[in-house]
Amino acid sequence: MSKSKEKEQKTPVPELFGSNVFNDEVMRERLPKDVYKALHKTIDEGMHLQMDLANVLAEAMKNWAVEKGATHFTHWFQPMTGVTAEKHDSFISPEPGGSVIMEFSGKELVKGEPDASSFPSGGLRATFEARGYTDWDPTSYAFIKDDTLCIPTAFCSYSGEALDKKTPLLRSMQALDKEATRILRLFGDTESKRVITTVGPEQEYFLIDEDVYKRRPDLIYTGRTLFGKKPPKGQEMEDHYFGTIKPRVSAYMKELDRELWKLGVNAKTKHNEVAPAQHELAPVFSTTNIATDHNQLTMELMKTVAGRHHMVCLLHEKPFAGVNGSGKHNNWSISTDRGQNLLEPGKTPSQNAQFLLFLTAVIKAVDEYQELLRTSVASAGNDHRLGANEAPPAILSIFLGDELSAIVDAIIAGTDYTDKQKKLISIGATVLPHIPADTTDRNRTSPFAFTGNKFEFRSIGSTASIASCNIVLNTIVAEELSRFADELEKADDFDNALTTLIQRELTAHQRIIFNGNGYSEEWVKEAEKRGLANLKTTVDALPSFIDEKSIALFTKQNVFSETELHARYEILLENYYKTIDIEAHTLIAMTKKNVMHAATTYESSLADALLKKKEAGVPAKVEESLLENAGEITESIYTGLLKLEDDAEKAEHLDADILELARFRKDVLLQDIDTLGASISKLEEVIPSEYWRYPTYAEMLFSIGEEAAR
Ligand code: ADP
Ligand code: MG
Repeated sequence: MSKSKEKEQKTPVPELFGSNVFNDEVMRERLPKDVYKALHKTIDEGMHLQMDLANVLAEAMKNWAVEKGATHFTHWFQPMTGVTAEKHDSFISPEPGGSVIMEFSGKELVKGEPDASSFPSGGLRATFEARGYTDWDPTSYAFIKDDTLCIPTAFCSYSGEALDKKTPLLRSMQALDKEATRILRLFGDTESKRVITTVGPEQEYFLIDEDVYKRRPDLIYTGRTLFGKKPPKGQEMEDHYFGTIKPRVSAYMKELDRELWKLGVNAKTKHNEVAPAQHELAPVFSTTNIATDHNQLTMELMKTVAGRHHMVCLLHEKPFAGVNGSGKHNNWSISTDRGQNLLEPGKTPSQNAQFLLFLTAVIKAVDEYQELLRTSVASAGNDHRLGANEAPPAILSIFLGDELSAIVDAIIAGTDYTDKQKKLISIGATVLPHIPADTTDRNRTSPFAFTGNKFEFRSIGSTASIASCNIVLNTIVAEELSRFADELEKADDFDNALTTLIQRELTAHQRIIFNGNGYSEEWVKEAEKRGLANLKTTVDALPSFIDEKSIALFTKQNVFSETELHARYEILLENYYKTIDIEAHTLIAMTKKNVMHAATTYESSLADALLKKKEAGVPAKVEESLLENAGEITESIYTGLLKLEDDAEKAEHLDADILELARFRKDVLLQDIDTLGASISKLEEVIPSEYWRYPTYAEMLFSIGEEAAR
């Protein structure tokens, strides 16, 4: 280990935390007082940075970064595909005489022009200027990663169309800020300047040894295994969940924590998850756009740090069939700039009334826009998870817990909650029962659960950027709040109008509240009776993204233009069908090259044994039966292969609109992949290890033993 690395490992955490971030503290220290003040004003008021200010700032940023060993800078952004993108430029600027100086201007800080023409633009490029530009998001701090100063930016086309995920996320936060502030004013809060949404995303992942990974082309190319049998010991014993962390994994987690802390990511809890080899990391929550940036960084570092430990971090939603998949829990709340959590039940009648109004807005939003919320978590990977008896179902519903449900029921029934008297309670004026801040009863099967002072949206896939679901959440809640504000601002008697509104809306949307077991068959039937949507796959869900209701919502709230929505719809579908195409071609290649060979070699070894016995004139019942079985399996694999090849060819030449292209993959290719995969799994079950080159589930899931870190 290098000296500097050793030193770094001993650095106390408070000193380490944020040491690679150009944060407020560094700015205050390094910027002239007036520049620091002006910058703050710009950030707080969401204004554009003046160029003279940007120049001073850039110089300070560069000096700080160079002192920390940085040689390059990049505008760090999140294109519509969900991964992050960077294009590194060095600070180096040639001087006469052959020397160089390190330079970085305000212009370079504020605006970038990556040659980003290869990023998917969902047709935006055809209609608009091909090139895009990046624009600094001063609310998210610059940081150093890999000797590069990374500047979090938004990515737009020259005509102002958003080409990324940050821009609409920031717009959705603005929409919610505007509408929630209107509501606060109605309750007499004249002091809060802004309302922000906060998010704490819990991230699940698998860790396996790099040796087994390298021998699974399906994991390498598609992120998931396309065949394999559940190990004899899976999660049945539930001994992995919160169990002791193995030394090698523990060493990994420690390093990951420190790497994240350096970047100011507040990684807090880590533990084992339900499945063997599955783990989870949760940060302390922060403002949504920062939480989103940090979650992207977390995923990236999870992978890089794993490499240093000779392990591979699998972020796919379903790396192993039949074993629990991975997701993200998006803990979401709304708070004022003064730190008041608006989803926290209050202590006074007025605070409680305000809480109930925000709660009603969320309930109404989730019910009215359930399809849209479903689209926000749709992907080929997540389709393997949602509704598979482990992750929340594809049906959206809200869990409120007994306490809060009783209150909602009383409001709907018009009874006084405390003495069950049949009288309409006036929400603003009557003393409401104290609503406990933490309901201990946490229904894990609910996709959208109230957990004391926040909502936990649990349907998100583990690879997804949390921008997508938060864009939708912020926007739909902003929309409901805006309608509420329109109504209440006009009212002569506020308390009365408030009571009427809350009672009316809770009554209208109570079907979305469900406290029971979301994994059960009965719920699927019950939900259907209630008229709730059950959009099982990405292909079923995505059309809602561009329906009239969605367009009206997003354009009214200035989050997406119609063109921007269409672009995203196209990209999501394209992503979906390309994912399945890659799976198909990977499975074809593996089967043709090795699986068929293994199957026939196994068969001929059995045939040899059978022949020998027959020649010797001894009974060969066992060999006969084994050979027959192997023959059947081989044949089913071969038939499956031919069909998959044939359909993959058809898919490639299909002339249809993008939704149909995706639908063909779902209805035909995906089924072919499953069928062939199942046949191969059968072979894997009986074939001797000496003929089988691919690591089994057991080998992969238990590839990290009790050994110490390498
Ligand atoms: P769980 O019991 O679901 O595993 P954890 O304690 O692991 O919960 O994670 C809860 C997450 O919720 C953490 O990331 C935490 O910071 C976050 N959280 C707490 N309060 C808020 C809030 N007001 N807004 C957003 N997220 C929050
Ligand atoms: Mg959780």
